[in-house]
Amino acid sequence: MSVEQAPEAAFQLKWELRDHGWARCHLTEGSQKVSLSVSYCTDALADLVAGIGGLYSQQHTTRFFFDAEPQELRWVLRATDESVEVTIYKFTDVAVSPDLPDSDGTVIWRSTHPRPVFAHTVLDAAQQVVTEHGETGYRSKWVLHPFPVGPVQDLRRLHLRDDVCELPHDLSCP
Ligand SMILES: [Zn+2]
Repeated sequence: MSVEQAPEAAFQLKWELRDHGWARCHLTEGSQKVSLSVSYCTDALADLVAGIGGLYSQQHTTRFFFDAEPQELRWVLRATDESVEVTIYKFTDVAVSPDLPDSDGTVIWRSTHPRPVFAHTVLDAAQQVVTEHGETGYRSKWVLHPFPVGPVQDLRRLHLRDDVCELPHDLSCP
């Protein structure tokens, strides 16, 4: 799981599975840090992985949201040439906000990454969570959704096929 990036500036994403259908998604880059609360009302890790996977097709923008009960944490991924711009907006009430434009939300995270770095980092985070808990443990903590094997396999295939990435890949991950 070594990642060859400069330690201070390196982008990191960690998926921390808690109990009873909650998780925390920790993002760090340089001095920028945010920890997102995520409930199982959406299949959040699957949406994150599939959201990046969508950028390998003709889609320039993909969107999905985490339900932080009651906040909506809306992710917008924009592909620009070889980079991905990541913006996360916070809305106070998910019961009404999915109809609101991005500009009504508060930006709580913004970063830009080469697509290979972003995809690799998310794949690593998914792999770490399944290595730690196993598919059975994942399901018992996340309750409503199984570990997203299909989206992870799809993203890994796209990443290995279309990105130039020198980092190691553990192909034994489910
Ligand atoms: Zn890679």
